Amino acid sequence: MIAFLCMAPLGAPALAAGSWQLALHGGAGVVERGALTPQLDAAYRASLDRALEAGAAVLRRGGASLDAVEAAVRVLEDDPLFNAGKGAEFTAEGRNELDASIMDGSNRKAGAVAGVTRTRNPVSLARAVMEQSAHVLLSGPGADAFSVQQGLEQVEPGYFRTEERWQQFLQWRDKRGAPPDRTHAYGTVGAVALDQAGHLAAATSTGGLTGKRWGRVGDSPIIGAGTYAEDGVCAVSATGTGEFFIRASAARQLRDRMAWHRERVQAAADNTIRDIAGSGGDGGLIALDARGRVAFAMNSPGMYRGSVGSGNPARTAIYADEK
Ligand code: ASP
Repeated sequence: MIAFLCMAPLGAPALAAGSWQLALHGGAGVVERGALTPQLDAAYRASLDRALEAGAAVLRRGGASLDAVEAAVRVLEDDPLFNAGKGAEFTAEGRNELDASIMDGSNRKAGAVAGVTRTRNPVSLARAVMEQSAHVLLSGPGADAFSVQQGLEQVEPGYFRTEERWQQFLQWRDKRGAPPDRTHAYGTVGAVALDQAGHLAAATSTGGLTGKRWGRVGDSPIIGAGTYAEDGVCAVSATGTGEFFIRASAARQLRDRMAWHRERVQAAADNTIRDIAGSGGDGGLIALDARGRVAFAMNSPGMYRGSVGSGNPARTAIYADEK
């Protein structure tokens, strides 16, 4: 039984007008102290720092939060350490099927894709769905075809494969019929941002769970479960046992706690995770309120995460008890 842990935000106090803030995660799971070598620990933090800087560069120059979350997530998708884009987990058939979503808090437009197999950066495909189609969620071959039509960068399916994920898949396959394994699941990525104009945005991207089958879709591309953003309230990105996050309407639940019950962002994040833990789920959430206050919450031993803002330098953390 994993203990519930409340996390203090890494971010600074409320921001003044014209300020900006960014937070991101690289997935929640069993990441206990000692499980990572010092080299791997440093590699994860350096990677999170690169993604923070990609998003911060956009926000610093007055760019849109939507551009910032896309930029940050693309860096993590390209990084084989994370379970998104290159480095994705394998399905039961030994394939990579990627899910992603993005939401613009300024107009509550959203785009998402599920089960895509050839787009290098699924978060950009999600954005294309939002901006270039009349739909919110495209899946499978249709989403792959839309990606080609939009001129997004295509890769051979083998591009997503890494040896570590393949070995995880082989271990899973040796335990025939086992449910999708979350023992060492981690690496879904997400970002939330507030720009200088006061607009919020959120994005999430994942390879899902090792051994997923039958076209399984998790919470990451479900608006209101894995991702949500609304100006004046909050931006949210989730990671964890997707089925539980879907049933809890996790990202939208956090938003409703703030909008309807006047909970502060950290309390809303903690209470949402408590609700998910209560039904047996595990994972974490990152959230940002309209004043740039960052909240991290999790009931797993760790979540790769970080934040940076106009008033606070970049900071990263991995373990649940890390400030
Ligand atoms: N939430 C993702 C899914 O269920 C997995 C994860 O965040 O680790 O697909």
